Amino acid sequence: MEKVIFGNTGIKVSRLAFGTLTIGPWQAEMPVKEGAMILREAFDSGINLFDTAQAYDTYPYLKAAFNKQTGYPHLISRSYAYSYDLMKNAVTEALDETGFPEFLCFMLHEQESSLTLKGHRGALEFLIEAKKHGITRSVGISTHKPDGVRAALEEDAVDVIFAMLNKEGIGLGEGKLEEMLGLLESAASCGKVIMLMKALAGGHLFREVVPALEWARDLPFSPIIAVGMQNIAEIKVNTAIFSGENIDRAMMEKTMEHERRLHTEDCQGCGECVEHCPFGALSLRDGRVHCDHSRCMLCSYCARACPHFCLYVT
Ligand code: SF4
Ligand code: SF4
Repeated sequence: MEKVIFGNTGIKVSRLAFGTLTIGPWQAEMPVKEGAMILREAFDSGINLFDTAQAYDTYPYLKAAFNKQTGYPHLISRSYAYSYDLMKNAVTEALDETGFPEFLCFMLHEQESSLTLKGHRGALEFLIEAKKHGITRSVGISTHKPDGVRAALEEDAVDVIFAMLNKEGIGLGEGKLEEMLGLLESAASCGKVIMLMKALAGGHLFREVVPALEWARDLPFSPIIAVGMQNIAEIKVNTAIFSGENIDRAMMEKTMEHERRLHTEDCQGCGECVEHCPFGALSLRDGRVHCDHSRCMLCSYCARACPHFCLYVT
């Protein structure tokens, strides 16, 4: 498994990171034991970097998978907390609920512009202190937008930028792929660690896993790429791509058996979820929510917003 040094932490991490959203309650809804087994399989296959978030509700899987005996992989988490105290609570919760001794990075979740970052100043101040105390080795932001990267470029305290990017520019909006690439290249040349999410566009590129991941892997700024995985076949194929190994054809076919999508069949029509979709994929029609699957990135933000638990991804 190809490894890189994570910024100035001196820590070596796999360039393929495991995104845990896909195993948790908002997507596959795996029992904790089963999800923990998938995480262990990924760890044993050479992935030593795992990505979670307060909003993913996947801390119990990490706690069940790793302990002092098994050894801990490196962990990234993030929170929407905007104030100092809320972020302090979020970090304390993450430590308690994962059982991990520290974070490689703790991030501000979904920072879309300099205004968003300004509104989260208190939370950022707490993370800067947490880094000084060794609770987190670095501080980062995640973003879906070029303006989020721009904001992070101007903020010295941000060590890591976790951005949405895939070879088709899906989810970014028209004409934004080149802009995002240029900004990330600049950020990398300023010494920021670049991580990518949605390299498979939330499943849209599921028939193009190899070219999509190779494209991201071979970008000139050598990003770390977080990919959500739900089964052994996906782990085998993805780790092969990042290890320069031949891809097992049977495993490859297995990964293409099932196209993931957002299910809306149980909708009760309250409309609450529509404004929570950052990609404009949801609308209300005839008293029910409608999903434009060509825009849906399977991020599950809407699922968390539904008061009736009607939305899920399988
Ligand atoms: S519809 Fe839901 S899962 Fe799809 S992009 Fe919007 S918020 Fe994310
Ligand atoms: S929040 Fe839930 S019930 Fe309300 S419109 Fe969305 S899916 Fe339907």
